[in-house]
Amino acid sequence: MKERILSLQALSEKMNPSGADYENLNSAAGEFANSFLSSLDQGQAYRQIPSMKGKLENADQTAAFGEILDQLREDMLQVGLNPASGGHLGYIPGGGLYAGVLGDYLAALTNQYAGIFYGGPGAVKIENELIRWLCQLMDYPDTSLGNLTSGGSIANLIAFVTAREARGLKAAEFENQCIYLTAQVHHCVHKAIRICGMQEAKIRTVAMDERFRMDATDLEQQIKQDHKAGLRPFLVVASAGTTDTGAVDPMDRIADLAQSHGLWFHVDAAYGGFFKMVDLEQGESGYTRDLFKGIERSDSLAIDPHKGMFLSYGLGAVLIKDVASQYKAHYYRAAYMQDTLSNQEELSPCDLSPELTKHFRGLRMWLPLRLYGLDVFKAAWEEKILLCRYFYEEIKKMGFETGPFPDLSVCIYRYLSEQGDPDAFNRALVEYVVRDGRVFVSSTTIEGVFWIRIAILSFRTHLSTIDLYLEILREGLYHLLKPTRPV
Ligand SMILES: *Cc1c(COP(=O)(O)O)cnc(C)c1O
Repeated sequence: MKERILSLQALSEKMNPSGADYENLNSAAGEFANSFLSSLDQGQAYRQIPSMKGKLENADQTAAFGEILDQLREDMLQVGLNPASGGHLGYIPGGGLYAGVLGDYLAALTNQYAGIFYGGPGAVKIENELIRWLCQLMDYPDTSLGNLTSGGSIANLIAFVTAREARGLKAAEFENQCIYLTAQVHHCVHKAIRICGMQEAKIRTVAMDERFRMDATDLEQQIKQDHKAGLRPFLVVASAGTTDTGAVDPMDRIADLAQSHGLWFHVDAAYGGFFKMVDLEQGESGYTRDLFKGIERSDSLAIDPHKGMFLSYGLGAVLIKDVASQYKAHYYRAAYMQDTLSNQEELSPCDLSPELTKHFRGLRMWLPLRLYGLDVFKAAWEEKILLCRYFYEEIKKMGFETGPFPDLSVCIYRYLSEQGDPDAFNRALVEYVVRDGRVFVSSTTIEGVFWIRIAILSFRTHLSTIDLYLEILREGLYHLLKPTRPV
C-alpha cells in the first residue's frame, strides 16, 4: 500500500509547484497583468460579442500555462465589456484597484479562514474592523455590525431576513405585512423579498417627486391606509443613490415615519453610500453629505465596496444596527463545530450570514484602505460627482434633453431629434457608442421613456474619458443626423 501511496503522491505533487515551475508561473502571470494594465489606456471598453460557441469549452483539457493565458487573452479579454476600463460608464462601474487585487492574491494564497473567529482570528478581526469602519462612516452606533457579502444583492437579502426574524414573523402572517418602496428601487430588492419567502407580502409602490425620490407624504398616506385596513406596515426600503438616476430618497422624513409607525427602515446604499463622505455644495440641499441625513436612523443598510471603493467584483456589505438581531436570524450550531465556541471575542461572519466557509474578501478592501487612506478615496468620490456635473452641463450645451440635475455621479439624457421616434433615435445612438467601443454606456426606461445613462464610478474614469465620450456623442449625432443622400 505504501508504494501505491507514494506513486500517487508523485503525481499529485504536480499541483504544488516549486523551484523553476513556481518562478515560471509567476513571471507568466506577472506578464499577463502588465500587458493587461498597460492596454487599458488605449483599450476598448466594449467589444461586440461574437458567438462563444466552440470557445472555452475545454475545462478539463490540460495545457501549458502560457497557452491557457493566451486563450484567456483571446477568448475572454477580447469580448464584451471590459469592467476594468475607465471607459466603463454603463450600469454601475467600479474598476478593480490593483492593491485590492493583491489583497485577493494574498487572501487566496494564505487561504485564511474568514468564517470563524476561532479558526481565523486575524482574518475575522480584519473583516469586523472594516465593518465597524463602515458603521462609523454611516454614523451607526457601537451596537451595530454586519457582514462582508459577495455584493449588494446578498447584503439586501441578509437585511430582510434579519428584519423578518427581528419582528418574529411567521409564514401565516406574511400576507398581512406591507413593504414600501419606489418604482426606482433596485430589482434585487424584489428578488430578496421573494427569496426570503415574503413575496406574499403587500408590496406598496410609493410615489416619487420629479427627481425620482420617494415622496414621503405618499408614504405616510399609504402606511395610514394600510393600518386602517388592518394590515401591518413592516418594512420601508429607501435608496441612497438609485441605479437609474442616482437619486437619494429623503432619509430623515422616511426615518420619522418608520419610527412613528414601527417599521423596519432599510437603506439600499449599494451604489451611493460612500458619497455621504463628500462635502460638495449641493444646491438647496446644502452639501452632498446632507442628502444622506437620516441614514444613521435606519435599522439596516447595504453598501457596495466593489462599486464605491473601486474594488474587484465580489465585495458588498450589510450593516445592521442591532447586530444581536442579525445573529439571532443567522447563527447555527453543529457538533463538529463545538470547539469554535471556546473563543468568541469577536462575532464570526458565519453566524451573521448564510455562508460558512467564505472567501477572505476583506483583505481586498483592507489593503487599499491602509495604503491610501480615506482622503484619497474622498478625492476620487468628489471627482466622480464633479465629472458627472461637468458632463451634465456639456450635454445640455449639445442640445440634449436631460433628466434632473444629478444628486451623485449618475445622470440621464436623450437627444430629441426633429425626425422620427425619439426612443428609436436614442437607442441607435447608444448602439453607435457601444459599437465604437472606446467607452461603454447603457440605457434605461423610466415611466415609459427611453433614456441614455452615464454612471461615473470607475477610479480610472477621469476628465479625459468624459471629453472622449462627448466627442463620440458628437460623432454619433453627426452620423445619425446626416441627411440620407439619394442613391
Ligand atoms: C448594484 C446595486 C445593487 C445590487 O448589488 P450587487 O452588488 O450587484 O449584488 C443593489 N442596489 C443598488 C442601488 C445597486 O446599484
